[in-house]
Amino acid sequence: MFDYLIVGAGFAGCVLAERLARGAGKRILLCDVRKHVGGNAYDHHDTAGVLVHRYGPHIFHTNSREVFDYLSQFTEWRPYQHRVRAWVDGQLLPIPINLDTINALYGLSLNALEVEGFLASRAERRERIRTSEDVILSKVGRELYEKFFRNYTRKQWGLDPSELDASVTARVPVRTNRDDRYFSDTYQAMPLHGFTRMFERMLDHPGIKILLNTDYREIRHVIPHREMIYTGPIDAYFDHRFGKLPYRSLEFKFETKDQEVYQAAPVINYPNEYSYTRVTEFKHLTGQVHPRTTIVYEFPKGDGDPYYPVPRPENAALYRKYEELARETAGVHFAGRLGTYRYYNMDQVVAQALTLYARLTGAPGVRALTEAA
Ligand code: FAD
Ligand code: UDP
Repeated sequence: MFDYLIVGAGFAGCVLAERLARGAGKRILLCDVRKHVGGNAYDHHDTAGVLVHRYGPHIFHTNSREVFDYLSQFTEWRPYQHRVRAWVDGQLLPIPINLDTINALYGLSLNALEVEGFLASRAERRERIRTSEDVILSKVGRELYEKFFRNYTRKQWGLDPSELDASVTARVPVRTNRDDRYFSDTYQAMPLHGFTRMFERMLDHPGIKILLNTDYREIRHVIPHREMIYTGPIDAYFDHRFGKLPYRSLEFKFETKDQEVYQAAPVINYPNEYSYTRVTEFKHLTGQVHPRTTIVYEFPKGDGDPYYPVPRPENAALYRKYEELARETAGVHFAGRLGTYRYYNMDQVVAQALTLYARLTGAPGVRALTEAA
């Protein structure tokens, strides 16, 4: 008899399996419909031998000491500060928009104070910041909004920024200094030997059995267990009883090039041209030394694997109906980005899983990281 059947071997499922087995002596059956652990953070060496992220670029960053210390038990780190450029008006410009972005775009040589004035004179006043359009217009005005945000967002989400919660574009700050890092978190690093190696070390415990290539519906009535933790899409668990929750998907196109370096930045965003949103060159992220290099293009789409919950009021309302049902479902706990329909980064999922572990066992909890980092 297993104490827990955990559905999904992504960050949420792996953290809970590790904690419940190692921390509380529970017997765990962890299953995933995919052929590998790691969920969307899975990485592997491609046929050329380049370490790539199968489901798009994953960069670890957090302000939580607890989350960083927890994961540090299972990996060493490679310090890494992520940098992104956007291809706008025929130039590669820093994004988040900063002092250098403005100066290069307009051929100016403003200082930080002058750029503040420049942006303030263009920003549109908003009584209330409700949508992703409000966020950007109120900080930088319409022209920069249109060059950097409007089309990227329409491509990524199939929706106009005015149809998305403020939290989506608020993930990307606007700066008046020369800081060109994508994130400003205290801890920014990549697992030295990759995410998958880290997950393997988390799960290396006699109390954890792993069943890959297995949908939980094939085993839930066959293999005895006391409780379940479910980290797949919450609406699928309830057979879409109230209708489908929208998720955004992506198609990834990988290309290996016969050259050591392909592009000038780890990620280049293409807000206005092409049907893909961005191109990532993995070696910049991983630090791998290799004579060849692999890149990935991301093409957003509506159907396919659910990658992004879509933050907007009607979806939150529909989710709340499922959440209510989940609360009434005894013996099943919901966690993770899909299980709780939240646009969470990896560290937020880890914090959420540690909190659930604390609730299940009475162990001390961690501070929830509920705001998008
Ligand atoms: P998942 O990783 O989705 O795991 C859920 C698992 O459940 C999946 O493996 C799935 O196969 C399995 N499952 C579903 N249904 C069933 C079923 N019926 N039976 C069995 N198994 C099932 N976060 C960052 O912090 N930094 C980044 O740079 C970053 N970049 C990202 C880029 C992209 C393109 C995407 C899509 C996400 C990115 N994220 C990033 C977010 C990150 O991927 C998530 O926060 C994290 O992986 C979520 O973990 P999870 O365990 O909740 O979900
Ligand atoms: N965004 C944009 N232009 C950019 C970068 C981001 O419009 O150059 C918007 C877009 O709506 C995107 C959101 O900001 O979905 C969040 O960006 P982030 O890079 O955090 O997205 P993720 O890495 O989660 O796909």
